[in-house]
Amino acid sequence: MPSKSTSPPPDTKQPSCPACGIAMRLERRLPDPRYINIQHMIFGCTCGWTSDQLIAEK
Ligand SMILES: [Zn+2]
Repeated sequence: MPSKSTSPPPDTKQPSCPACGIAMRLERRLPDPRYINIQHMIFGCTCGWTSDQLIAEK
């Protein structure tokens, strides 16, 4: 049974926190206000660091 969209797509690299070096977790994805095929993947760390990665969808 495949689970639904709790993990990022396979080509999305999970970033590690520049402050602690641990893997950050995906908090949410937001559509870009200007480009319909761009998604912002918001990663967060327990220390409070957040990272915004842009993903282009086809
Ligand atoms: Zn951290």
